Amino acid sequence: MILDMAPRKPYLSKSRIISAWQCPKKLYLEKHHPELGEISARMESLFATGREVGRVSQQVYGAAGSIEIPFSRNLSLMLRQTKALIDGGADFPIFEATFQHDDVLVRVDVLIPDGSGWRAIEVKASTSVKDYHVLDCAIQDWVMRHVDLPLTSIALAHINNRFVYRGRESYSGLLAEVDLSDEVRAVDPAVDELIIRARDAVMGPMPEMHVGTHCYKPYECQFINYCWPSDSAYPVAGLGGSKAKLGDYVARGCRDIRDVDANSLSADTQLRIHRVTCSGKPEILEGAREALEALGYPRYYLDFETIGPAVPIWEGTRPYMPIPVQWSCHIDDGAGDGSYAGMRHEEFLDLSGNPPMRILAERMIECLGDAGPVLMYTNYEEKVINGLIELFPDLQESLEEIIDRLFDLYPVVKANYYHPKMLGSWSIKAVLPTVSPQLDYASLDGIKEGTEASDGFIEAIDPQTSPDRKAELERQLLRYCRFDTEAMVEIVRFFCNASR
Ligand code: SF4
Repeated sequence: MILDMAPRKPYLSKSRIISAWQCPKKLYLEKHHPELGEISARMESLFATGREVGRVSQQVYGAAGSIEIPFSRNLSLMLRQTKALIDGGADFPIFEATFQHDDVLVRVDVLIPDGSGWRAIEVKASTSVKDYHVLDCAIQDWVMRHVDLPLTSIALAHINNRFVYRGRESYSGLLAEVDLSDEVRAVDPAVDELIIRARDAVMGPMPEMHVGTHCYKPYECQFINYCWPSDSAYPVAGLGGSKAKLGDYVARGCRDIRDVDANSLSADTQLRIHRVTCSGKPEILEGAREALEALGYPRYYLDFETIGPAVPIWEGTRPYMPIPVQWSCHIDDGAGDGSYAGMRHEEFLDLSGNPPMRILAERMIECLGDAGPVLMYTNYEEKVINGLIELFPDLQESLEEIIDRLFDLYPVVKANYYHPKMLGSWSIKAVLPTVSPQLDYASLDGIKEGTEASDGFIEAIDPQTSPDRKAELERQLLRYCRFDTEAMVEIVRFFCNASR
């Protein structure tokens, strides 16, 4: 049971006000029951990206004398330091300048002297301006106006995804600035209402909110597993489709896919999920076996792991570009029983910190030979190989020959198979335990999913990482990527043996 114990006069940060704008219940839970939230690896990774972009923005906007107001639990210290700089006539950029009005506290990413006033810049890791960024800037503007800071403009700096890193730690051009002064003025009247809404959420009882689209946009909420039904065998979210419509089902009392009236569904995929779930038996069509048996030998099962940092680390790469850093390949020459245990396995992983793409591509070309289907799960591998062609035009012919041999397992599985335990997903992680119960990504120790692999790689090449930790990460990365190709082998074996 949740006890309502709201403080009498809480201060509000900008992120809390934005939380209340997304969902008042989210802010209530953040304030009173943060322990009910679950921060996913993806969320952690987004926070880390935001910090990295913030760090680089100080290089981009820094000038002689620039100062950062360091974060302190002592709010008044940050406020005093900011005031001293501004009252003292600072003529250099200030990072994280801190202001407060009516218990609303903001920290401004960049404040640059501009004649007799100041230019404010909010830095974001996204690649374009979103609607909610205007609100974000409007809250900053609201506080700065009320403390009589003369603002000449307010802008948002986002990642310029056409930027190509040329090395030497030079990131000039990484951020694209958009002046939002007019847009901010237009939404200014809404800020007072937002603050009232946030205060009500913090000080009142837990707001009644139904689940829906707002649980995922603009930010994935950390309380999804608390608010969405998760205590039934086949939670209703597994029907997929519109989050708003799923929210309506939950509001009408449906907790399980089987609670939903089939007559209310129209999408083929939802009808199929509903039908198979209600039957309790998996659906396996012949098409998968037919398509897979038609493939020749040798067969190659290929999987990449990639990184896509917002702040590029290697010359010639762009922000968020998927850069392959590792691959695993199982090779079936057709002589064995089709299990991965009897197959040849090759892999590539370079944790030196040097750009690994060239040697990764050359080793892959060598491993894959010149004939035989190259199996992948979703067309991500094709995108990655196309990225390698962009980086190394001299390898174009060899890489295009590999692209011509790619065979995507995903559409074959999706068209021919569904098991109730897949809960609306045809991802390899959802399919694998239903076809090979002894294999489950959840059983891996350490790295168990792509975001963790990407973050693990970045940590492993960091010179600050200890040798022991690096060795442990190397073990986990190799195991995880190999598991992906073992999973593909098991899925193919399952369908080739099915219905015999
Ligand atoms: S999961 Fe949805 S309803 Fe629950 S707090 Fe988050 S946004 Fe609000």
